Amino acid sequence: MAVVRTRVAPSPTGDPHVGTAYIALFNLAFARQHGGQFLLRIEDTDQTRSTPESEQAILDSLRWLGIEWDEGPDVGGRCGPYRQSERKDIYAQYAYKMVEEGNAFYCYRTAEELDQMRNERKEAGNFAALSFDDLKLDAAEIERRKAAGVPAVIRMKVPTEGVCVIDDMLRGPIELEWSQVDAQVLLKSDGMPTYHLANVVDDHLMEITHVIRGEEWINSAPKHQLLYKYLGWEMPKLCHMPLLRNPDKSKLSKRKNPTSILYYKRMGYMPEALLNYLGRMGWSMPDEREKFSREEMFAHFDISRVSLGGPIFDVEKLSWLNAQWLRELDQQEFISRFMQWGLNQEFLAPVIPHMLPRIQTFSDVVPLAGFMLSGMPNVTVESFAHKTLDQEGTVKLLQVALWQLEALRTWDKEHIEQRLFALAKVMDIKVRDFLYPFFVAIAGTPSSFSVLDSMAMLGPDMSRARIRHAVNVLGGVSKKGMKQLEKDYRDIEIAVEQKLQEAAN
Ligand code: GLU
Repeated sequence: MAVVRTRVAPSPTGDPHVGTAYIALFNLAFARQHGGQFLLRIEDTDQTRSTPESEQAILDSLRWLGIEWDEGPDVGGRCGPYRQSERKDIYAQYAYKMVEEGNAFYCYRTAEELDQMRNERKEAGNFAALSFDDLKLDAAEIERRKAAGVPAVIRMKVPTEGVCVIDDMLRGPIELEWSQVDAQVLLKSDGMPTYHLANVVDDHLMEITHVIRGEEWINSAPKHQLLYKYLGWEMPKLCHMPLLRNPDKSKLSKRKNPTSILYYKRMGYMPEALLNYLGRMGWSMPDEREKFSREEMFAHFDISRVSLGGPIFDVEKLSWLNAQWLRELDQQEFISRFMQWGLNQEFLAPVIPHMLPRIQTFSDVVPLAGFMLSGMPNVTVESFAHKTLDQEGTVKLLQVALWQLEALRTWDKEHIEQRLFALAKVMDIKVRDFLYPFFVAIAGTPSSFSVLDSMAMLGPDMSRARIRHAVNVLGGVSKKGMKQLEKDYRDIEIAVEQKLQEAAN
Protein backbone atom coordinates (compact mmCIF):
# COMPACT_ATOMS: atom_id res chain seq x y z
CA MET A 1 0.00 0.00 0.00
CA ALA A 2 1.08 3.53 -0.76
CA VAL A 3 2.60 5.57 2.03
CA VAL A 4 -0.10 7.34 3.98
CA ARG A 5 -0.17 11.09 3.27
CA THR A 6 -2.62 13.41 4.97
CA ARG A 7 -2.99 17.17 4.94
CA VAL A 8 -4.67 20.11 6.53
CA ALA A 9 -5.67 22.83 4.09
CA PRO A 10 -6.65 26.02 5.89
CA SER A 11 -7.81 29.16 4.13
CA PRO A 12 -5.96 32.14 5.62
CA THR A 13 -8.97 34.39 6.05
CA GLY A 14 -9.02 35.27 9.71
CA ASP A 15 -7.73 34.36 13.11
CA PRO A 16 -6.37 30.81 13.51
CA HIS A 17 -9.37 28.69 14.50
CA VAL A 18 -9.34 25.91 17.08
CA GLY A 19 -11.26 23.82 14.52
CA THR A 20 -8.26 24.01 12.18
CA ALA A 21 -5.98 22.75 14.94
CA TYR A 22 -8.42 19.93 15.74
CA ILE A 23 -8.48 18.74 12.13
CA ALA A 24 -4.72 19.16 11.82
CA LEU A 25 -4.16 17.11 14.96
CA PHE A 26 -6.25 14.17 13.73
CA ASN A 27 -4.53 14.24 10.34
CA LEU A 28 -1.15 14.31 12.02
CA ALA A 29 -2.09 11.50 14.42
CA PHE A 30 -3.35 9.37 11.54
CA ALA A 31 -0.18 9.95 9.51
CA ARG A 32 2.10 9.23 12.48
CA GLN A 33 0.18 6.08 13.37
CA HIS A 34 0.81 4.74 9.86
CA GLY A 35 4.36 5.96 9.56
CA GLY A 36 3.21 8.39 6.90
CA GLN A 37 3.54 12.09 6.14
CA PHE A 38 1.46 15.09 7.07
CA LEU A 39 1.32 18.21 4.87
CA LEU A 40 0.12 21.73 5.35
CA ARG A 41 -1.33 23.46 2.31
CA ILE A 42 -2.58 27.03 2.22
CA GLU A 43 -5.83 27.39 0.26
CA ASP A 44 -5.76 31.06 -0.63
CA THR A 45 -7.64 31.08 -3.93
CA ASP A 46 -10.04 33.61 -2.46
CA GLN A 47 -7.64 36.48 -2.88
CA THR A 48 -9.93 39.15 -1.57
CA ARG A 49 -10.24 37.47 1.82
CA SER A 50 -6.84 35.80 2.24
CA THR A 51 -4.05 37.67 3.99
CA PRO A 52 -0.39 36.88 4.67
CA GLU A 53 -0.90 37.89 8.33
CA SER A 54 -3.60 35.29 8.73
CA GLU A 55 -1.40 32.64 7.10
CA GLN A 56 1.48 33.48 9.43
CA ALA A 57 -0.79 33.36 12.46
CA ILE A 58 -2.07 29.92 11.43
CA LEU A 59 1.45 28.55 11.01
CA ASP A 60 2.62 30.08 14.31
CA SER A 61 -0.40 28.89 16.25
CA LEU A 62 -0.23 25.33 14.99
CA ARG A 63 3.49 25.18 15.79
CA TRP A 64 2.84 26.66 19.23
CA LEU A 65 0.44 23.79 19.84
CA GLY A 66 3.06 21.24 18.85
CA ILE A 67 1.66 20.39 15.45
CA GLU A 68 4.44 20.00 12.94
CA TRP A 69 4.22 19.23 9.22
CA ASP A 70 6.60 17.32 6.98
CA GLU A 71 5.86 19.48 3.94
CA GLY A 72 4.38 22.95 3.76
CA PRO A 73 4.82 26.52 2.53
CA ASP A 74 7.54 27.36 5.04
CA VAL A 75 9.40 24.03 5.06
CA GLY A 76 9.10 23.11 1.37
CA GLY A 77 8.88 19.55 0.07
CA ARG A 78 8.87 17.60 -3.17
CA CYS A 79 5.26 18.51 -4.11
CA GLY A 80 5.53 22.26 -3.65
CA PRO A 81 4.69 25.03 -3.79
CA TYR A 82 2.21 24.53 -0.97
CA ARG A 83 0.39 27.81 -1.34
CA GLN A 84 -2.37 27.71 -3.94
CA SER A 85 -1.78 31.31 -5.02
CA GLU A 86 1.66 30.14 -6.18
CA ARG A 87 0.14 27.25 -8.13
CA LYS A 88 -2.28 29.35 -10.20
CA ASP A 89 -0.96 28.11 -13.53
CA ILE A 90 -1.48 24.48 -12.67
CA TYR A 91 -5.27 24.35 -12.40
CA ALA A 92 -6.69 25.79 -15.62
CA GLN A 93 -5.36 22.97 -17.84
CA TYR A 94 -7.50 20.45 -15.97
CA ALA A 95 -10.61 22.56 -16.46
CA TYR A 96 -9.82 22.86 -20.19
CA LYS A 97 -9.28 19.12 -20.42
CA MET A 98 -12.71 18.50 -18.89
CA VAL A 99 -14.28 20.92 -21.40
CA GLU A 100 -12.59 19.10 -24.29
CA GLU A 101 -13.84 15.78 -23.04
CA GLY A 102 -17.39 17.05 -22.63
CA ASN A 103 -17.41 16.90 -18.84
CA ALA A 104 -17.38 20.65 -18.29
CA PHE A 105 -18.67 23.67 -20.20
CA TYR A 106 -18.23 27.40 -20.60
CA CYS A 107 -21.11 29.23 -18.97
CA TYR A 108 -22.00 32.77 -20.07
CA ARG A 109 -24.92 33.28 -17.73
CA THR A 110 -25.02 36.58 -15.88
CA ALA A 111 -25.33 36.92 -12.11
CA GLU A 112 -28.87 38.32 -12.54
CA GLU A 113 -29.96 35.34 -14.61
CA LEU A 114 -28.54 32.93 -12.06
CA ASP A 115 -30.29 34.69 -9.20
CA GLN A 116 -33.53 34.68 -11.08
CA MET A 117 -33.30 30.97 -11.92
CA ARG A 118 -32.49 30.10 -8.33
CA ASN A 119 -35.34 32.17 -6.98
CA GLU A 120 -37.84 30.67 -9.40
CA ARG A 121 -36.79 27.18 -8.35
CA LYS A 122 -36.99 28.01 -4.71
CA GLU A 123 -40.46 29.47 -5.13
CA ALA A 124 -41.55 26.35 -6.99
CA GLY A 125 -40.25 24.31 -4.04
CA ASN A 126 -37.48 22.68 -6.05
CA PHE A 127 -33.88 22.18 -5.09
CA ALA A 128 -31.92 25.25 -6.03
CA ALA A 129 -29.19 23.27 -7.81
CA LEU A 130 -28.70 24.28 -11.43
CA SER A 131 -27.69 21.76 -14.07
CA PHE A 132 -26.08 21.99 -17.49
CA ASP A 133 -29.53 21.82 -19.11
CA ASP A 134 -30.76 24.75 -17.05
CA LEU A 135 -27.75 26.83 -17.85
CA LYS A 136 -27.09 26.06 -21.48
CA LEU A 137 -27.59 28.69 -24.18
CA ASP A 138 -27.92 28.14 -27.91
CA ALA A 139 -24.88 28.64 -30.11
CA ALA A 140 -26.02 32.00 -31.53
CA GLU A 141 -26.63 33.44 -28.07
CA ILE A 142 -23.23 32.23 -26.91
CA GLU A 143 -21.61 33.97 -29.88
CA ARG A 144 -23.53 37.14 -29.14
CA ARG A 145 -22.47 37.17 -25.50
CA LYS A 146 -18.88 36.35 -26.38
CA ALA A 147 -18.79 39.26 -28.82
CA ALA A 148 -20.33 41.53 -26.20
CA GLY A 149 -17.51 40.56 -23.83
CA VAL A 150 -19.70 38.74 -21.27
CA PRO A 151 -17.26 36.94 -18.97
CA ALA A 152 -17.43 33.14 -18.94
CA VAL A 153 -16.74 30.62 -16.21
CA ILE A 154 -16.14 26.90 -16.61
CA ARG A 155 -18.60 24.65 -14.82
CA MET A 156 -18.61 20.91 -14.37
CA LYS A 157 -21.43 18.75 -15.65
CA VAL A 158 -23.29 16.92 -12.93
CA PRO A 159 -25.89 14.14 -13.28
CA THR A 160 -29.42 15.32 -12.57
CA GLU A 161 -30.86 12.06 -11.36
CA GLY A 162 -30.04 9.21 -9.06
CA VAL A 163 -27.91 9.04 -5.96
CA CYS A 164 -24.23 9.52 -5.43
CA VAL A 165 -22.70 7.18 -2.87
CA ILE A 166 -19.79 8.53 -0.88
CA ASP A 167 -17.74 6.16 1.19
CA ASP A 168 -16.79 7.72 4.48
CA MET A 169 -14.28 6.10 6.80
CA LEU A 170 -16.42 6.84 9.85
CA ARG A 171 -19.93 6.68 8.47
CA GLY A 172 -19.73 4.04 5.77
CA PRO A 173 -21.68 4.80 2.58
CA ILE A 174 -23.49 8.16 2.52
CA GLU A 175 -26.13 8.68 -0.14
CA LEU A 176 -26.63 12.13 -1.63
CA GLU A 177 -29.08 13.10 -4.37
CA TRP A 178 -27.45 14.30 -7.57
CA SER A 179 -30.38 16.63 -8.12
CA GLN A 180 -29.15 18.70 -5.17
CA VAL A 181 -25.68 19.16 -6.62
CA ASP A 182 -24.98 22.32 -8.62
CA ALA A 183 -23.08 22.40 -11.90
CA GLN A 184 -20.20 23.74 -9.84
CA VAL A 185 -17.98 26.53 -11.15
CA LEU A 186 -14.44 25.16 -11.55
CA LEU A 187 -12.66 28.08 -13.13
CA LYS A 188 -13.71 31.66 -12.53
CA SER A 189 -13.79 34.24 -15.31
CA ASP A 190 -10.44 35.63 -14.13
CA GLY A 191 -8.86 32.20 -14.64
CA MET A 192 -8.66 31.43 -10.91
CA PRO A 193 -9.82 28.01 -9.79
CA THR A 194 -12.55 27.58 -7.20
CA TYR A 195 -11.91 25.68 -3.98
CA HIS A 196 -13.27 22.45 -5.50
CA LEU A 197 -10.98 22.33 -8.52
CA ALA A 198 -7.86 23.46 -6.68
CA ASN A 199 -8.50 21.13 -3.76
CA VAL A 200 -8.94 18.02 -5.93
CA VAL A 201 -6.01 18.82 -8.23
CA ASP A 202 -3.72 19.51 -5.29
CA ASP A 203 -4.75 16.47 -3.28
CA HIS A 204 -3.96 14.38 -6.34
CA LEU A 205 -0.64 16.05 -7.20
CA MET A 206 0.42 16.02 -3.55
CA GLU A 207 -0.38 12.29 -3.39
CA ILE A 208 -2.79 12.61 -0.52
CA THR A 209 -4.15 9.20 0.43
CA HIS A 210 -6.62 10.19 3.17
CA VAL A 211 -8.65 13.39 3.36
CA ILE A 212 -9.64 13.95 6.97
CA ARG A 213 -11.72 17.12 7.22
CA GLY A 214 -14.74 18.67 8.90
CA GLU A 215 -18.20 17.29 8.17
CA GLU A 216 -19.24 20.62 6.66
CA TRP A 217 -17.52 19.35 3.51
CA ILE A 218 -19.70 16.24 3.07
CA ASN A 219 -21.93 18.04 0.60
CA SER A 220 -18.90 18.84 -1.54
CA ALA A 221 -17.85 15.21 -1.72
CA PRO A 222 -20.07 14.26 -4.70
CA LYS A 223 -18.49 17.04 -6.76
CA HIS A 224 -15.03 15.91 -5.74
CA GLN A 225 -15.76 12.26 -6.46
CA LEU A 226 -16.98 13.23 -9.92
CA LEU A 227 -13.91 15.38 -10.55
CA TYR A 228 -11.63 12.44 -9.72
CA LYS A 229 -13.62 10.32 -12.15
CA TYR A 230 -13.49 12.93 -14.94
CA LEU A 231 -9.78 13.38 -14.46
CA GLY A 232 -9.17 9.62 -14.30
CA TRP A 233 -7.56 9.76 -10.87
CA GLU A 234 -7.94 7.57 -7.85
CA MET A 235 -9.75 9.36 -5.06
CA PRO A 236 -8.23 9.52 -1.57
CA LYS A 237 -10.23 7.91 1.22
CA LEU A 238 -12.59 10.41 2.83
CA CYS A 239 -13.13 10.89 6.52
CA HIS A 240 -15.47 13.62 7.72
CA MET A 241 -14.89 14.55 11.35
CA PRO A 242 -17.74 15.73 13.57
CA LEU A 243 -17.87 19.50 14.01
CA LEU A 244 -16.91 21.11 17.30
CA ARG A 245 -19.91 22.48 19.16
CA ASN A 246 -20.74 25.09 21.77
CA PRO A 247 -22.06 23.73 25.07
CA ASP A 248 -25.59 24.45 23.75
CA LYS A 249 -24.81 22.02 20.86
CA SER A 250 -24.81 24.72 18.18
CA LYS A 251 -21.84 24.81 15.82
CA LEU A 252 -18.84 26.37 17.55
CA SER A 253 -18.85 29.99 16.52
CA LYS A 254 -17.13 33.15 17.57
CA ARG A 255 -20.51 34.68 18.32
CA LYS A 256 -20.80 32.48 21.39
CA ASN A 257 -17.31 31.32 22.25
CA PRO A 258 -13.81 32.45 21.52
CA THR A 259 -12.61 30.31 18.62
CA SER A 260 -9.19 31.79 17.99
CA ILE A 261 -6.13 29.88 19.14
CA LEU A 262 -4.59 33.31 19.88
CA TYR A 263 -7.28 33.86 22.51
CA TYR A 264 -6.42 30.65 24.33
CA LYS A 265 -2.77 31.56 24.18
CA ARG A 266 -3.46 35.03 25.59
CA MET A 267 -5.66 33.53 28.30
CA GLY A 268 -2.65 31.55 29.45
CA TYR A 269 -3.61 28.02 28.53
CA MET A 270 -0.70 25.69 28.05
CA PRO A 271 -0.35 24.46 24.47
CA GLU A 272 -0.06 20.88 25.72
CA ALA A 273 -3.38 21.21 27.52
CA LEU A 274 -5.21 22.74 24.56
CA LEU A 275 -3.83 20.06 22.24
CA ASN A 276 -4.78 17.39 24.79
CA TYR A 277 -8.30 18.82 24.93
CA LEU A 278 -8.61 18.90 21.14
CA GLY A 279 -7.51 15.26 21.12
CA ARG A 280 -10.49 14.50 23.33
CA MET A 281 -12.95 15.94 20.83
CA GLY A 282 -14.82 12.89 19.69
CA TRP A 283 -11.94 10.63 20.62
CA SER A 284 -10.70 8.97 23.79
CA MET A 285 -7.74 6.94 24.92
CA PRO A 286 -8.40 3.19 25.20
CA ASP A 287 -8.27 3.53 29.01
CA GLU A 288 -10.40 6.70 28.91
CA ARG A 289 -7.80 8.78 30.75
CA GLU A 290 -8.37 12.48 30.25
CA LYS A 291 -4.86 13.82 30.46
CA PHE A 292 -2.48 12.59 27.81
CA SER A 293 0.41 13.95 25.80
CA ARG A 294 0.68 14.22 22.05
CA GLU A 295 3.01 11.21 21.93
CA GLU A 296 0.65 9.13 24.06
CA MET A 297 -2.19 10.06 21.76
CA PHE A 298 -0.22 9.07 18.67
CA ALA A 299 0.86 5.77 20.22
CA HIS A 300 -2.76 4.77 20.85
CA PHE A 301 -4.43 6.49 17.93
CA ASP A 302 -7.17 4.73 16.04
CA ILE A 303 -9.44 6.84 13.87
CA SER A 304 -12.24 4.31 13.95
CA ARG A 305 -12.75 5.24 17.59
CA VAL A 306 -13.86 8.75 16.65
CA SER A 307 -17.47 9.03 17.75
CA LEU A 308 -19.86 11.00 15.60
CA GLY A 309 -21.93 12.71 18.29
CA GLY A 310 -20.90 16.37 18.05
CA PRO A 311 -17.99 16.96 20.44
CA ILE A 312 -18.55 19.87 22.81
CA PHE A 313 -15.78 22.40 23.14
CA ASP A 314 -16.35 23.46 26.71
CA VAL A 315 -14.02 26.16 28.00
CA GLU A 316 -14.63 25.13 31.61
CA LYS A 317 -13.51 21.56 30.93
CA LEU A 318 -10.51 22.92 29.09
CA SER A 319 -9.65 25.06 32.12
CA TRP A 320 -9.93 22.04 34.40
CA LEU A 321 -7.59 20.08 32.16
CA ASN A 322 -5.19 23.02 31.93
CA ALA A 323 -5.04 23.14 35.72
CA GLN A 324 -3.89 19.50 35.75
CA TRP A 325 -1.09 20.37 33.36
CA LEU A 326 -0.09 23.52 35.26
CA ARG A 327 0.13 21.78 38.60
CA GLU A 328 2.51 19.23 37.23
CA LEU A 329 5.09 21.80 36.18
CA ASP A 330 8.02 22.00 38.52
CA GLN A 331 8.64 25.40 40.00
CA GLN A 332 11.47 26.31 37.66
CA GLU A 333 9.48 25.37 34.66
CA PHE A 334 6.44 27.25 35.94
CA ILE A 335 8.52 30.39 36.28
CA SER A 336 10.03 30.15 32.87
CA ARG A 337 6.71 29.29 31.20
CA PHE A 338 5.01 32.20 32.96
CA MET A 339 7.72 34.64 31.89
CA GLN A 340 7.59 33.32 28.35
CA TRP A 341 3.83 33.75 28.33
CA GLY A 342 3.37 37.24 29.73
CA LEU A 343 6.63 38.95 30.47
CA ASN A 344 8.20 38.68 27.09
CA GLN A 345 9.50 41.20 24.60
CA GLU A 346 6.83 40.65 21.99
CA PHE A 347 4.02 41.22 24.42
CA LEU A 348 5.44 44.05 26.49
CA ALA A 349 6.97 46.18 23.76
CA PRO A 350 3.69 47.54 22.35
CA VAL A 351 2.25 48.20 25.84
CA ILE A 352 5.16 50.24 27.21
CA PRO A 353 4.60 53.45 25.21
CA HIS A 354 1.04 53.62 26.56
CA MET A 355 2.19 53.16 30.12
CA LEU A 356 5.25 55.38 30.26
CA PRO A 357 3.50 58.77 30.49
CA ARG A 358 1.49 57.50 33.44
CA ILE A 359 3.93 55.69 35.69
CA GLN A 360 6.59 56.79 38.13
CA THR A 361 7.84 53.45 39.39
CA PHE A 362 7.78 49.81 38.31
CA SER A 363 5.24 49.19 41.01
CA ASP A 364 2.79 51.33 39.04
CA VAL A 365 2.89 48.91 36.13
CA VAL A 366 0.62 46.15 37.36
CA PRO A 367 -2.16 48.42 38.67
CA LEU A 368 -2.15 50.29 35.37
CA ALA A 369 -1.58 47.55 32.83
CA GLY A 370 -2.44 44.36 34.70
CA PHE A 371 -5.62 44.07 32.66
CA MET A 372 -3.48 43.35 29.61
CA LEU A 373 -2.37 40.14 31.31
CA SER A 374 -5.72 39.19 32.80
CA GLY A 375 -8.75 37.26 31.66
CA MET A 376 -12.15 38.79 32.33
CA PRO A 377 -11.90 41.98 34.43
CA ASN A 378 -13.58 42.02 37.80
CA VAL A 379 -16.54 44.32 37.11
CA THR A 380 -20.05 44.72 38.50
CA VAL A 381 -23.15 46.62 37.43
CA GLU A 382 -21.91 49.59 39.48
CA SER A 383 -18.66 49.74 37.54
CA PHE A 384 -20.67 50.80 34.48
CA ALA A 385 -22.70 53.54 36.21
CA HIS A 386 -22.58 56.65 34.04
CA LYS A 387 -24.22 60.04 34.11
CA THR A 388 -25.99 59.81 30.77
CA LEU A 389 -26.01 56.12 29.86
CA ASP A 390 -28.35 53.92 31.85
CA GLN A 391 -27.92 50.17 32.29
CA GLU A 392 -30.29 49.23 29.49
CA GLY A 393 -28.71 51.68 27.08
CA THR A 394 -25.26 50.39 27.97
CA VAL A 395 -26.20 46.77 27.32
CA LYS A 396 -27.72 47.71 24.00
CA LEU A 397 -24.70 49.72 22.99
CA LEU A 398 -22.27 46.94 23.92
CA GLN A 399 -24.32 44.26 22.18
CA VAL A 400 -24.60 46.25 18.98
CA ALA A 401 -20.89 47.01 19.10
CA LEU A 402 -20.20 43.30 19.55
CA TRP A 403 -22.04 42.51 16.34
CA GLN A 404 -20.17 45.26 14.57
CA LEU A 405 -16.84 43.99 15.84
CA GLU A 406 -17.65 40.43 14.80
CA ALA A 407 -17.94 41.72 11.25
CA LEU A 408 -14.61 43.54 11.37
CA ARG A 409 -12.12 41.86 9.09
CA THR A 410 -9.00 43.87 9.85
CA TRP A 411 -8.36 44.12 13.55
CA ASP A 412 -6.25 47.18 14.19
CA LYS A 413 -6.77 50.46 15.99
CA GLU A 414 -7.73 52.34 12.86
CA HIS A 415 -10.47 49.92 11.83
CA ILE A 416 -11.84 49.50 15.35
CA GLU A 417 -11.95 53.26 15.75
CA GLN A 418 -13.65 53.91 12.41
CA ARG A 419 -16.31 51.37 13.16
CA LEU A 420 -17.03 52.37 16.74
CA PHE A 421 -17.03 56.08 15.96
CA ALA A 422 -19.41 55.52 13.04
CA LEU A 423 -21.63 53.49 15.34
CA ALA A 424 -21.57 56.25 17.98
CA LYS A 425 -22.71 58.72 15.33
CA VAL A 426 -25.49 56.45 14.14
CA MET A 427 -26.65 55.86 17.72
CA ASP A 428 -26.30 59.56 18.36
CA ILE A 429 -24.10 59.21 21.44
CA LYS A 430 -21.08 61.44 22.12
CA VAL A 431 -17.86 59.53 21.48
CA ARG A 432 -16.64 60.13 25.03
CA ASP A 433 -19.80 58.70 26.53
CA PHE A 434 -19.89 55.93 23.99
CA LEU A 435 -16.39 54.75 24.88
CA TYR A 436 -17.01 54.76 28.62
CA PRO A 437 -18.45 51.24 28.92
CA PHE A 438 -15.67 49.94 26.68
CA PHE A 439 -13.05 51.22 29.11
CA VAL A 440 -14.84 49.40 31.90
CA ALA A 441 -15.43 46.22 29.89
CA ILE A 442 -11.88 46.01 28.56
CA ALA A 443 -9.68 47.53 31.26
CA GLY A 444 -12.02 47.27 34.23
CA THR A 445 -11.78 51.04 34.84
CA PRO A 446 -12.65 54.26 32.98
CA SER A 447 -9.25 55.74 33.78
CA SER A 448 -7.06 53.45 31.69
CA PHE A 449 -4.94 54.36 28.68
CA SER A 450 -6.47 54.31 25.18
CA VAL A 451 -9.13 51.63 25.04
CA LEU A 452 -8.88 51.41 21.25
CA ASP A 453 -5.18 50.63 21.50
CA SER A 454 -5.91 48.14 24.26
CA MET A 455 -8.44 46.35 22.11
CA ALA A 456 -6.09 46.30 19.16
CA MET A 457 -3.35 44.76 21.34
CA LEU A 458 -5.62 42.26 23.06
CA GLY A 459 -6.93 40.99 19.74
CA PRO A 460 -10.47 40.36 18.53
CA ASP A 461 -11.43 37.28 20.54
CA MET A 462 -10.17 38.59 23.88
CA SER A 463 -11.79 41.97 23.30
CA ARG A 464 -15.09 40.46 22.26
CA ALA A 465 -15.02 38.01 25.18
CA ARG A 466 -14.66 40.92 27.60
CA ILE A 467 -17.48 42.88 25.98
CA ARG A 468 -19.67 39.76 26.07
CA HIS A 469 -18.73 39.33 29.72
CA ALA A 470 -19.78 42.93 30.38
CA VAL A 471 -23.12 42.35 28.65
CA ASN A 472 -23.70 39.35 30.93
CA VAL A 473 -22.63 41.22 34.05
CA LEU A 474 -25.16 43.90 33.14
CA GLY A 475 -27.90 41.32 32.99
CA GLY A 476 -27.80 40.65 29.23
CA VAL A 477 -30.54 41.39 26.74
CA SER A 478 -33.94 39.84 27.44
CA LYS A 479 -35.44 37.51 24.81
CA LYS A 480 -38.01 40.11 23.87
CA GLY A 481 -35.45 42.89 23.92
CA MET A 482 -33.21 40.79 21.67
CA LYS A 483 -35.89 40.48 18.99
CA GLN A 484 -36.34 44.24 18.94
CA LEU A 485 -32.59 44.86 19.02
CA GLU A 486 -32.00 42.48 16.13
CA LYS A 487 -34.63 44.36 14.18
CA ASP A 488 -33.15 47.76 15.02
CA TYR A 489 -29.74 46.42 14.20
CA ARG A 490 -30.61 45.92 10.55
CA ASP A 491 -31.04 49.67 10.13
CA ILE A 492 -28.06 50.46 12.33
CA GLU A 493 -25.86 48.16 10.26
CA ILE A 494 -26.84 49.84 7.01
CA ALA A 495 -26.37 53.31 8.49
CA VAL A 496 -22.91 52.41 9.80
CA GLU A 497 -21.88 51.09 6.39
CA GLN A 498 -23.06 54.36 4.85
CA LYS A 499 -21.09 56.41 7.35
CA LEU A 500 -17.98 54.35 6.63
CA GLN A 501 -18.50 54.81 2.90
CA GLU A 502 -18.90 58.56 3.31
CA ALA A 503 -15.75 58.71 5.38
CA ALA A 504 -13.82 56.73 2.77
CA ASN A 505 -14.83 59.05 -0.09
N1 GLU B 1 -9.74 25.15 2.53
C1 GLU B 1 -10.72 24.29 3.13
C2 GLU B 1 -10.95 24.80 4.55
O1 GLU B 1 -10.76 25.95 4.76
C3 GLU B 1 -10.23 22.86 3.11
C4 GLU B 1 -11.32 21.84 3.18
C5 GLU B 1 -10.76 20.47 2.89
O2 GLU B 1 -10.06 19.96 3.77
O3 GLU B 1 -11.00 19.95 1.83
O4 GLU B 1 -11.31 24.12 5.47
